[in-house]
Amino acid sequence: MHQITFLCSGRVSVSQQKKVNVLSLLIDPDDIYSSEQKPGSSDALDFRHHNYKEMRKLMKSVTDECPDITHVYTIGKSYTGLKLYVMVISDNPSKHELGEPEFRYVAGMHGNEALGRELVLNLMQYLCREYKKGNQRVVKLVTETRIHLLPSMNPDGYEAAYEKGSELAGWAEGRYSFEGIDLNHNFPDLNNIMWDAQEAWNHQHVFPSQVSPETRAVISWMQDIPFVLSANLHGGELVVTYPFDCTRDWAPQEDTPTADNAFFRWLATVYASTNLVMANPDRRICHYEDFQKHNNIINGGAWWVTLPQLGMNDFSYLHTNCFEVTVELSCDKFPHASELPVEWENNKESLLVYMEQIHRGIKGVIRDNFCPVFISSAADGDYWRLLNPGDYKVVVWAEGYFPSMRRCNVGMEPRATMCDFTLTKTPLTTTNLLSFHKSLLNEVLS
Ligand SMILES: [Zn+2]
Repeated sequence: MHQITFLCSGRVSVSQQKKVNVLSLLIDPDDIYSSEQKPGSSDALDFRHHNYKEMRKLMKSVTDECPDITHVYTIGKSYTGLKLYVMVISDNPSKHELGEPEFRYVAGMHGNEALGRELVLNLMQYLCREYKKGNQRVVKLVTETRIHLLPSMNPDGYEAAYEKGSELAGWAEGRYSFEGIDLNHNFPDLNNIMWDAQEAWNHQHVFPSQVSPETRAVISWMQDIPFVLSANLHGGELVVTYPFDCTRDWAPQEDTPTADNAFFRWLATVYASTNLVMANPDRRICHYEDFQKHNNIINGGAWWVTLPQLGMNDFSYLHTNCFEVTVELSCDKFPHASELPVEWENNKESLLVYMEQIHRGIKGVIRDNFCPVFISSAADGDYWRLLNPGDYKVVVWAEGYFPSMRRCNVGMEPRATMCDFTLTKTPLTTTNLLSFHKSLLNEVLS
């Protein structure tokens, strides 16, 4: 039995007493191995590298082609003033719908890791066209999910790398923001605050010395939209990493799992096992490490190369309860344009099946007798919690209300279990409520 507690802030803490073996869950009713490798791609997408202007043009052409299911907005600007464009794809793209979960792909955080950007642009075109053709899988995904696609989080860095091109872009050219900031080391460190408040607050590492405009834009985006699931697309390796990236006491290399380790390993495995290059047992290693022996997934803290202290994945999970993994898409950070069709085929199934994982765990609406209770996960009281199959006791806490507990069962089917709550207002004072909370907690733990 697992215990889940919804705090009034919408933040969720979980204590899991049962470990679920990810591998035993790999038999999925969806056929996730259906793709075949092809020389090039059968999809007629715009396979080339798009600089800022061309990216904007492509996004415009997709919205012209599919005005009913797309909407483009900006979340802010880069240091030099380039806009951070997001395309949202859904049946009702411009607003949150009750019960419909919000997904995001973020690419180009490191400007020279160019493949993610192109894959996200390919995905926009693909979803638009397949939706129009009536592809049932895509129609279902677009109708039941609100998908946000940010192809370029660091457009200044990308423009610098694009100038050099695939042949000449170096290992670090364009990686950083214009101000020289590594955006994946630029988020507040909530981990060490959680692990040991006093120690962390005294420590300089907790906040980056300078927060870039790109990071600020993404943080406020995360706060505006109740995202449930995300992936952060990088390049230069072939592996999927899952939180925590930050290690306790900033140790140089240490496996640092979250309370949701089983689900994170599931998410990472879903992407890695359907990626045609990673899943190929004969593939060569990119640099020094053989990730095949870990099935191409690894805990971020256990991988010494990146160690994104102050990274985006941990912040997303701890601050907004949005599950996020990092995908290292290819050995080559800036593949030649001629390789883009094959790279699309390598990643197409992974990109789709990963998004579909948002429809797992439990979801529902938290109301008081008449109106929705406002929690930070969504303004209408709707919530989502990604969970592996199992039995859960779920407790909802909100200020001014009696806590409410329900048992929710998550099955093997790839859809979320509905678990609604109705809260009753309480006249109890905070002190009285605390003892009530304690007695309820004892009941849950018994
Ligand atoms: Zn990167």
